[in-house]
Amino acid sequence: MTEPSVFTRILRGEIPAEILAETENVFVIRDIAPQAPLHLLVIPKSGDYRDVTELAAGDPALLAEMVAIAKRVAIDYGDGDFRLVFNTGAGAGQTVFHVHAHVLGGGLAEGSLGG
Ligand code: 5GP
Repeated sequence: MTEPSVFTRILRGEIPAEILAETENVFVIRDIAPQAPLHLLVIPKSGDYRDVTELAAGDPALLAEMVAIAKRVAIDYGDGDFRLVFNTGAGAGQTVFHVHAHVLGGGLAEGSLGG
């Protein structure tokens, strides 16, 4: 059996984090090491998918729900504009292999892709 991810442990209450928004399938927290003035993580409650490519193939409706929730929290916690990032693979900076979207916002307009 594989170890539960840090996000599963947060969902279970084993690691503290404020849940900013939640649906039946998805929850949102602040990133512990923010890379932008607004830096949220949109995370499926299920840890079944390691990355966005697996999620898109296995449950495209859940991926669409993540995008919809990203928009909602970008409005609720920022100015509504946001960058949506899925690091995919260790070489691209993925460190948690439980799919999640980074919602980045605030002062990004003049930055190049990736800030
Ligand atoms: P990745 O590098 O896999 O794309 O993103 C994982 C993100 O999870 C990182 O940006 C990291 O800062 C964040 N993170 C890791 N552990 C924790 C934690 O315990 N709490 C919160 N809120 N974020 C975490």
